Amino acid sequence: MKKKRIIIAIIVIVCILALITFLVWKNIEKSNNELEANNNFKIVTSFYPIYIIAENITNGAENIELSNMAEVNGGCLHDYTLSTNDVKKVENADVFVQNGEGIENFTDKILEIYSNVKIINSSEGIENIIQDGEEVNGHIWTSIDNYIAQVKNIANNLSEYNKENSDIYQNNANEYIAKLEEIKENYNTELSNLSGQKAICLNEAFAYLGKDLNLDMIMVETNHEESTLSADTLKEIIEQSNENDIKIILIGDGDNTQNAETIASETNANIFQLKTGLGGDYSLDSYLNDLNYNLEVLKSIK
Ligand SMILES: [Zn+2]
Repeated sequence: MKKKRIIIAIIVIVCILALITFLVWKNIEKSNNELEANNNFKIVTSFYPIYIIAENITNGAENIELSNMAEVNGGCLHDYTLSTNDVKKVENADVFVQNGEGIENFTDKILEIYSNVKIINSSEGIENIIQDGEEVNGHIWTSIDNYIAQVKNIANNLSEYNKENSDIYQNNANEYIAKLEEIKENYNTELSNLSGQKAICLNEAFAYLGKDLNLDMIMVETNHEESTLSADTLKEIIEQSNENDIKIILIGDGDNTQNAETIASETNANIFQLKTGLGGDYSLDSYLNDLNYNLEVLKSIK
């Protein structure tokens, strides 16, 4: 009997030990998983166009988290005020990816709060910058060449800071750039008739696109939110339009059309609405689709 009891006791002890071992092992595994989640490389982009670039570059990368800070789908960041929620999003970020050229004038504020966050500046080294006096036009991405340079900058910096995925980043960037080059080729061959044509541009984002197309543009000081132009300014534009027989008015998709319509009604010019790349459905091809859309609109100019 005594022997039997000892055997039962041993079995019970073995069972308890096995259970303890199992629980300890489970716990270690759990904390490892938690550690892994916290070790994800966290990328935060400033706004939509930069998010789309980062989304393309990081597609398929492992152990990363990509998020977009400013939820201004379709809008720019001029005079943007950081919300508490925006700041919170950057809290655990490893890198903050921005357009640069004055679009994000709050970056210093972010660095003040989170000095460890690395800033990736997509416009680094880009020389095609349009400047009016002191004022830099930050909408560099509407030039396809500039945009390609931004893609390269972001891919190279991400590869540097997150070596684990550098092959994926570089491959994705190359594939994305190949698609952009193809569209650029279509622009060059199909829009050559626009070279030297005069146009009125009511959206500052298209300064770079117009320069690429070699349009002779009268840039009218507006912003995306489309402040109403004064009667004097409108009169002046209409006079200039008629004197130069201008046929093209460029505005942004979603812009207020009122100023453009006033000018069109008094001149021989037609309104052409283009996509700015500032908003969309967050799909990988969002910007490529915008470029192709604009190509079709621009092809309709006689
Ligand atoms: Zn803007």
